[in-house]
Amino acid sequence: MSDLLSFLKKSPTRFHAVAALSDALDKAGYTRLSECDDWQLAVGGKYYVTRNGSALLAFRIPRADFSGFMLSASHGDSPTFRIKENAEISGPDGYLRLNVERYGGMLCAPWMDRPLTVGGRVLVQNGDSIETRLVYVDRDLLMIPNVAIHMNRKANDGYTYDAKTDMVPVMGIGSEAGSFRSVIAQAAGCRAEDILGHDLFLCLREPGVIWGMQDEFVSAPRLDDLQCAYGCFEGFLAAQESESVPVYALLDNEEVGSLTKQGADGTFVSDLVDRICAAFGRSRVSALANSFLVSADNAHAVHPNHPEYTDATHRPMPNGGVVIKYGVRYATDGASQAVFTAVCRKAGVPVQHFSNRSDLAGGSTLGNIANAHTSVNTVDIGLAQLAMHSPFETAGAKDTDHLIRAMTCFYSSALTENNGTFTLK
Ligand code: ZN
Repeated sequence: MSDLLSFLKKSPTRFHAVAALSDALDKAGYTRLSECDDWQLAVGGKYYVTRNGSALLAFRIPRADFSGFMLSASHGDSPTFRIKENAEISGPDGYLRLNVERYGGMLCAPWMDRPLTVGGRVLVQNGDSIETRLVYVDRDLLMIPNVAIHMNRKANDGYTYDAKTDMVPVMGIGSEAGSFRSVIAQAAGCRAEDILGHDLFLCLREPGVIWGMQDEFVSAPRLDDLQCAYGCFEGFLAAQESESVPVYALLDNEEVGSLTKQGADGTFVSDLVDRICAAFGRSRVSALANSFLVSADNAHAVHPNHPEYTDATHRPMPNGGVVIKYGVRYATDGASQAVFTAVCRKAGVPVQHFSNRSDLAGGSTLGNIANAHTSVNTVDIGLAQLAMHSPFETAGAKDTDHLIRAMTCFYSSALTENNGTFTLK
């Protein structure tokens, strides 16, 4: 993968993100495993495995006996609208519309008046088998039109968006417009009646851009959390071997609570740890005690027009470096903060800190949830961004490189702990 924007272009949905990472791992000589098989893991081997086509784990087995696991976890899903099963709405009048529901907590207004399409996966009957096919309708197919200011004079005074009324995309006019299912079938290369199931979502069509007086900013769909997913991945690939097992995780469903088999509240990471420990006769408990998780999910930058939303003394800026996040909904503590700060110092990467303004609840992320299944020292980090959960988000153009450098150093390290003394080497 040459850069962040090309990764984002290849990743209009979580399924496509997993496919793009899988391609990159194939090219880098990694062996694809299946969770359905027994594994024969070799010392010096490089592997990856996917679950549900929407989560991925990649790892390497070091040549020396390993002390533990150096893990990162990001999420591949982002707030969007899911296409319902019986999707077509005929009318009002001659319009053909698409029945959608909210997936995650998005900003609604910026979804309007922009070219949209549909992507995801379909399950297709083929004889006795049911095949998964990725779908991306590569053309401007849908729009969610605003109401004109002349008809809603209060539009600029604050507006409550009702998903069932305001956020319904239009895709055609008249009875000749064709059927939505046939458009999907054509994109999937199958007959409409052979589609047995689907996970399809609205996708913004606009490509990402670098902009600003000195190209300071990157704006694109799905920066939360594919910017972190990309930075951690590049760091994972670039790292030197250490006496630890480097594990890269891209998980699904963070935006709706992670409570799925492919989410952080599933057993995907924990099952991998079990398999690797069993294969090399290691105790899971002692290996996890010498392990560390970087939960990487983007953070809020100070807003240029609304700086008052940010805490008085925790004010991350775009391009200011990796952000360490603290708060009751984060897994960061003094020990994990110290270890990750030491990693960033070694890598020469600046660190900033985020904490919610004391009267704001803020959001949650992967770290705490993953710890319920794989309990390890964990730091929550991210890169500073604006307009989180807009379909078109903005971050610092230099911060991706900050994260790559920090994660290269992290994955090149092994951690051991002895009663509160941590050693990184
Ligand atoms: Zn996120």
